[in-house]
Amino acid sequence: MTTEKMGFEAEVSRLLHMMVHSVYSDREIFLRELISNASDACDKLRYEGLTNSDLVKDGGDFAIDIRLDKDAKTLIVSDNGVGMNKEDLISHLGTIARSGTSAFVDNMSGDTKKDVNLIGQFGVGFYSVFMIADKVDVLSKKAGEDKAFLWSSDGIGEYTVSDADKDTNGTTITLHIKDDAEEFLEVLRLKTIIKTYSDHITLPITLISKNDDKEAEEAEKSEKVNDGSALWARQKSDISEEQYKEFYHHVAHAYDEPATTIHYRAEGKIEYTVLLFIPSQQPMDLFDPARKPKVKLYVKRVFITEDCEDLLPGYLRFMRGVVDSEDLPLNISREMLQNNPVMTSIRNAVTKRVLTELEKKAKKDVDGYNEFWTSFGSVLKEGIYEDFARRDQILKMARFESTADKGLTSLENYVSGMNKNQETIYYITGDSLEAAKRSPQLEGFKAKDIEVLYLTDPVDEFWLQMVPEFEGKKFGSVTRGAAELDDKKEDEKKEDTPELDALIGVIKTNLGEAVKDVRISNRLTDSAVCLVADDDDMDMHMERILKMHNKLDGATSARVMEINADNPLIKTLAEQATKEGSVESLKDASQILLDQARIMEGDLPEDPVGFATRLSSFMTSSFK
Ligand code: ADP
Ligand code: MG
Repeated sequence: MTTEKMGFEAEVSRLLHMMVHSVYSDREIFLRELISNASDACDKLRYEGLTNSDLVKDGGDFAIDIRLDKDAKTLIVSDNGVGMNKEDLISHLGTIARSGTSAFVDNMSGDTKKDVNLIGQFGVGFYSVFMIADKVDVLSKKAGEDKAFLWSSDGIGEYTVSDADKDTNGTTITLHIKDDAEEFLEVLRLKTIIKTYSDHITLPITLISKNDDKEAEEAEKSEKVNDGSALWARQKSDISEEQYKEFYHHVAHAYDEPATTIHYRAEGKIEYTVLLFIPSQQPMDLFDPARKPKVKLYVKRVFITEDCEDLLPGYLRFMRGVVDSEDLPLNISREMLQNNPVMTSIRNAVTKRVLTELEKKAKKDVDGYNEFWTSFGSVLKEGIYEDFARRDQILKMARFESTADKGLTSLENYVSGMNKNQETIYYITGDSLEAAKRSPQLEGFKAKDIEVLYLTDPVDEFWLQMVPEFEGKKFGSVTRGAAELDDKKEDEKKEDTPELDALIGVIKTNLGEAVKDVRISNRLTDSAVCLVADDDDMDMHMERILKMHNKLDGATSARVMEINADNPLIKTLAEQATKEGSVESLKDASQILLDQARIMEGDLPEDPVGFATRLSSFMTSSFK
């Protein structure tokens, strides 16, 4: 028999150190984690068995047994699920594979007292057993394989994996209970824990203990502890908040509170039950490129898969929970799920329902909805360009920050607050809200009290391309085209003085191709200059994004440079511009104006060294 000794990954060691020394008050959650894992393992095997019936030998009587031995001070949790082979044991129980756990470790401060509070927030899965056990043995045999293995550790630095014997597939976890954790060897205590956290598990959970009654015939007594009926199949009125929450924790592998719970049964031509949750915190995998929905599909209370892309659209991938269909066949395979008409109608109906629930929330509970929007709005907005049929609906649900500075606002709100002659919904895009807020292009709009929406999510650029207008009002970027601050009266318009004309001529000559045009701005009130895109050019921020993703060949389009006639610097330069030799004397000044505008856009000057040299020489001459 070979035994290999291995070190835990460094992060796991840190985590375990905390588990071993922790004084966490809810140590009982270790059992919830083990039962949740056992249940997942059985679900996995049942699904694999649909396509490979050899794997499920005993007819699929999946079960979880929990065996107590007070004398040996052991608690043994076993399942007949999919099991783990040697590689699985090493990668699942020796590293931090789970994103939740790695987020936990990232947040650890090193101060045990502080870090302990994180356990409830992130959950630590399997490793939580080391809060109550000083040695843990995991004996496992993977379904369809011959060999069994024993993983063993005291949770300090190392673990061993050795060859072992086990007749049946599945996993048996033996916890050698710490002296200060003997409460977890009491039948009553365990029953309470299982009832509290795991009542919804659909497999029977049996508690087996020695019979204290020495006269009794049986040396052991066993008792099924959990309700075992699917939670979603029960009446709403029979389910407590607490039960919903525990079920959410299990089904979502999450530890936050569900912000919204949607539970209903659809009856009619197609019958199914839905129990969905909107998390209160962003799940770790929310921005995974795969964008996979995470809702689990059940058929007649039997788990089928959680890898079902057709159940919900990608823009609802923050939803967690289950959909249980009465109409699909139990032996449905992955291939059969694709383009299945039953799935399509479930998807449509559930999507509709989720959006309706969100709309209701937006009306009834504005703060709650805004919280939802802050966490998941950027995902839901993908629906604006992905789901043509629901575009208008989702547009109405969208919320934005704006120059009005009154928190999140909707497009409907924006439109109803538009000025009398305003025809355009103005927005500014940017890499962040802070950057957008500082944009000089906003100055004139603020001065005129015209609201501008901050569209600072990367996804905003994409839907803007496809949505020309909302309720008949077109969208317009404040960094593009001539600013139609049109409510201005004719006589208020900036006059082109001969000096300004001269300055414009000088700048144009000096900058040449670097700018598309130079003109007097009516969108600036403070800053001297800004850059804008010409009417038919691409929005500047969009162009930057595409460049960043290498989606754009060729040079950046030349910009229009706008100058502020009221700005003292521009006035001074304009005076200079009429003098002889001004093209030469204003050469550096022209270049610095352009670079300054670029910097305000968050770009670099085209030639940073040249910029620094020019600036230095200006500073030198100003102190002479
Ligand atoms: P999570 O369950 O969220 O993935 P855990 O730390 O609880 O994280 O478990 C880590 C992994 O170990 C699981 O994803 C699973 O692959 C494996 N595992 C744990 N317990 C079992 C079990 N009883 N049977 C099979 N695999 C298991
Ligand atoms: Mg787990």
